[in-house]
Amino acid sequence: MVHQTLDTDILILGSGGAGLFAALHAHKADPSLSITVAVKGLLGKCGCTRMVQGGYNVALAKEDSIERHFMDTIEGGKWLPDQELAWKLVTLAIERIHELENELGCFFDRNPDGTVHQKAFAGQTFDRTVHKGDLTGIEIINRLAEQVWARKINRLEEFRAVELIKDEGNTRIAGVLFIDMRTGEYMLVRAKAVLLATGGGPTMYKYHTPSGDKTCDGLAMALRAGLPLRDMEMVQFHPTGLLAGTHTRMTGTVLEEGLRGAGGYLLNGAKERFMPKYDPKAERATRDFVSRAMFMEMRKGNTSPNGGLFIAMNHLNQDEVRKQFRGMVERCADCGFDLAGGLVEVVPTAHYMMGGVEFTPDCSTELMGLFVAGEDAGGVHGANRLGGNGVANSTVFGAVAGDVMAEWVKGKGFADPDSSRIEKAISASETPFSAKPSSLEPLRERLYEVMWQKVGIIRNEAGLRAALTELNSLEEELSRTGVADGNRAFNLTWHDWLNLKSLVQVSRVIANAALARTDSRGAHFREDYPDAGSLEGSFFIRSKMKDGKLETSTMPVAFTRVKPGQTLLKTAA
Ligand SMILES: Cc1cc2nc3c(=O)[nH]c(=O)nc-3n(C[C@H](O)[C@H](O)[C@H](O)COP(=O)(O)OP(=O)(O)OC[C@H]3O[C@@H](n4cnc5c(N)ncnc54)[C@H](O)[C@@H]3O)c2cc1C
Repeated sequence: MVHQTLDTDILILGSGGAGLFAALHAHKADPSLSITVAVKGLLGKCGCTRMVQGGYNVALAKEDSIERHFMDTIEGGKWLPDQELAWKLVTLAIERIHELENELGCFFDRNPDGTVHQKAFAGQTFDRTVHKGDLTGIEIINRLAEQVWARKINRLEEFRAVELIKDEGNTRIAGVLFIDMRTGEYMLVRAKAVLLATGGGPTMYKYHTPSGDKTCDGLAMALRAGLPLRDMEMVQFHPTGLLAGTHTRMTGTVLEEGLRGAGGYLLNGAKERFMPKYDPKAERATRDFVSRAMFMEMRKGNTSPNGGLFIAMNHLNQDEVRKQFRGMVERCADCGFDLAGGLVEVVPTAHYMMGGVEFTPDCSTELMGLFVAGEDAGGVHGANRLGGNGVANSTVFGAVAGDVMAEWVKGKGFADPDSSRIEKAISASETPFSAKPSSLEPLRERLYEVMWQKVGIIRNEAGLRAALTELNSLEEELSRTGVADGNRAFNLTWHDWLNLKSLVQVSRVIANAALARTDSRGAHFREDYPDAGSLEGSFFIRSKMKDGKLETSTMPVAFTRVKPGQTLLKTAA
């Protein structure tokens, strides 16, 4: 039963870069609007924008250009990005970085001449990554959160969105059903416009980097609401996740790319360097290549004690490594490794979902009144995201969504929510209370294992089909696994159950899309179809629920600005 209701003009789900930018822009556009940010964690303390280490891609330097940033994004995405979305990303990133510095108060690192320092990131033809040391995300989120706190913007913290609720005619969004995690009670928030900005997050893999509050809830809700998702097979693995054993959550967290950039070697269990065998760029190849080579080496059984590989910096100047990578040296020391002088165990780790809800450059979706931004949105990055384009993506499209929603709600009223959908969602969330309680751990382990082994870095048809069977059986077993119905306040086992439900549903979409894509592009590699296929004939995979069944179809990529073989860069005469 719904215990409370609330009406708000604009409802924003998530308080990462996308959610907070949307709130600030909507408020600036019309301060009289009621705006509510609802978030599973604490505003300013959760999500992945806060975890951004490396930085923010933007074409600021005189010698750089938006065309060059655009071409890097399209080529990095293996010609699968939606070109209008990518264009919006690269053009508006400039406005957003100026807003972050000049209006919101971020301090980014500077050169001695006062210009903003921009560093090199893999896959880019120009050094364009703006940063604050290696803690860029904390600077961005702290400043954004302060500005949100200083304005009349409502906050619902530790509120978990569980279902998008449409109107009775099934024509537009009417609101969102929540669980207030502090009491365990249900709340319905009616809104004229809703932004989905829950940040995706591939936490269904055995090794992963994103924050624990991210369990693909937004994508699962969009799927259940019948919205099309695209590029869901495209899951990015970062090559160097720390491997410190199963007893610590540090396992899976990222050791930054700069280590390989600075000359670090990857070694197998026999302490031999293997990357040159796989790629002429060796350790400096792009994330997809390096992760794949590492996985192949691990499949041969050439592993470190914990089943991974090693990164070695000890052939370099140790003092320099300690100075340049202080944070990484300390992180490794906390887990018993000497990064500068010894070997550190590493493993590829699931980092980012390029796929998400289909949307247009004004952030609208197929469902009237529902907007999407950030990692929940699909199509900006295609088959691969450039490091530094993630936080640019969430801030750029978050701001767009805020501006657009403020305009969109003008003159609109509230819709009547479909009560049958509310009841259905509550009953689905209550499922674990009517089953016999038992541990969720074995189910989580099975999910981690099947996604890592069969839907991970290297895929094939037999493995994907076996994974789909396993995922179906996991979903069934989850529905028979109960949670003790004692105190509902902060009942973390219940939320864990709900997390697993979202993760299994979205995992099935990833596996299905991977089965449907019979070629290998960027992050998606099929050993039974290793060719990239024709670039001119590039297509993306659309996934959608229809009549309770998951459907996939292929859609052509529209080359609206540049075709394969062409470039927007002016070539020297
Ligand atoms: C370790 C790490 C390092 C990274 N480094 C970089 C980098 O250097 N450069 C770069 O460009 N990108 C980087 N990224 C990627 C970048 O963090 C993301 O692309 C971006 O921050 C996503 O922003 P977002 O607003 O979409 O989501 P997030 O910032 O992740 O925010 C999601 C929000 O949704 C909330 N939420 C989730 N589920 C629910 C629910 N059911 N109900 C209500 N709220 C919910 C969460 O609590 C959170 O507040 C990194 C990611 C990680 C994990």
